Amino acid sequence: GIGAKRYVKGISLGEGTYGVVFKALDTQTNRTVAVKKIRLGKYKEGVHVTALREIKLLKELRDPNIIELIDVYPHKRNLHLVFEFMESDLEAVIRDRNILLSPADVKSYMQMCLRGLAHCHKKWVLHRDLKPNNLLISSDGQLKLGDFGLARIFGSPDRKFTHQVFARWYRSPELLFGSKQYGSGVDIWAAGCIFAELLLRRPFLQGSSDIDQLGKIFQAFGTPRETQWPDMTSLPDYVEFQFTPAPALRSLFPMATEDALDLLSKMFAFDPKARITAQQALEHRYFSTDPAPTKAHLLLRPA
Ligand code: ADP
Repeated sequence: GIGAKRYVKGISLGEGTYGVVFKALDTQTNRTVAVKKIRLGKYKEGVHVTALREIKLLKELRDPNIIELIDVYPHKRNLHLVFEFMESDLEAVIRDRNILLSPADVKSYMQMCLRGLAHCHKKWVLHRDLKPNNLLISSDGQLKLGDFGLARIFGSPDRKFTHQVFARWYRSPELLFGSKQYGSGVDIWAAGCIFAELLLRRPFLQGSSDIDQLGKIFQAFGTPRETQWPDMTSLPDYVEFQFTPAPALRSLFPMATEDALDLLSKMFAFDPKARITAQQALEHRYFSTDPAPTKAHLLLRPA
């Protein structure tokens, strides 16, 4: 096909859920791109539907903080998705001990993440799989939400969402209790976990099973009371946990500012209906008080 001639394939960048991702050169623009090869072999129908969904979503989701889908083309038995090439991801930044993350840097990453999310949520699209390794970082330091393979437009009439879509550590309590009518709050919870991880330099709540994950959440924030989250007991997989009181959030994040802690606590509201939205989070005073977020091009990237 035309597409196969336009892109000169380079090294493999890694294996994804549906196939290999290659580095390539776009001979039409001289840009480096990432080509995601989606196998259509055996699971033709299913994969096709998923891929087409990803394409449609991404085309509608143009934003500086969302990864750009440049092109799509079939080749042999595969479908190829061409994305802008991203140098790094937030997981690599957090892991790199040579990178010092100042409060202004953390604020910058959170602002870019929330801007991407606010854009998605405004278009009624959930990301549903937010974690540091799918927050990609471009050569000019912009953070962009990538990996929309699992995202779906929410509110579609006859489709109940499955809840096993998140990397467990970033999963919200409503997902862990089996909620099937969840909304944009699941992304805010995950973004809260990422915020915490930027402050701590390690994953915040590392559960070893879904029940253990809930246990870790309740250890950190206390077991929710009926008044805090009235719908909890009617969720499909609800189980009662022994009551634990909430420790002071301050004790978990000794270095965080008051503003950071206040925003963090609002992103971790138990009741998804009470959880702060991406747009409200962007308007939180954390983003308008000192220090100002570091400009994207000044953020340090892993070697
Ligand atoms: P998964 O489906 O498991 O989330 P992906 O298919 O999105 O993974 O990506 C597989 C690997 O390819 C990633 O770990 C990443 O290193 C790399 N990759 C994906 N997209 C890009 C991109 N746009 N630019 C550079 N590398 C990428």
